[in-house]
Amino acid sequence: MANDAGISKELIGQLIDGTLDDDNVLRLLKMGRKDPERFINYTAALQERVIWPEPILLRLGDKLYIVRTGTGGRVVKCACGHEFGDYRRNWKLGCRIRTRRTLAEMREVYDPAPACPEPGWQEIREFFCPGCATQHAVEVVAPGYPIVFEMLPDLDKYYRETLGRPLPDEAPAWYADHTAEITRRWAAH
Ligand SMILES: [Zn+2]
Repeated sequence: MANDAGISKELIGQLIDGTLDDDNVLRLLKMGRKDPERFINYTAALQERVIWPEPILLRLGDKLYIVRTGTGGRVVKCACGHEFGDYRRNWKLGCRIRTRRTLAEMREVYDPAPACPEPGWQEIREFFCPGCATQHAVEVVAPGYPIVFEMLPDLDKYYRETLGRPLPDEAPAWYADHTAEITRRWAAH
């Protein structure tokens, strides 16, 4: 059982679906050498589980991906098909956001009560997809703190240097935070 070969597509699929049996979980954990193709195979298995054709470049969350569009863009897309726009802009700004500010609101999701953030000093922000209402993220921050941009990946560098498979559209401009474009637009209106 304990060999490094034979990480089949089916096995990766079970890993994603949460149905992998204990023996195979142990086997994967104890592999002496990581499968160099693991990211590509994992992404291929993810691709089989979504309802749209755009190629997945990176998984950001359980149901959230960066994909390449047919028009050459790289956008954040929900499993339901909703697109949040260019991945260089914090996708959270395109969410429906629920903010819990009072102790009563926080106690609905915190147990036991002493674990609750302190109202006035902290607030809980929940980020939902406008298309399917999936909760994609939660953050606990000080009131007024900018919405946290969790990850701006350097996709070109990752694909070129780590995977050895450069993306066909690589360019320095892909690695830049454009979130301020959104907040600037909000400020102007
Ligand atoms: Zn959605």
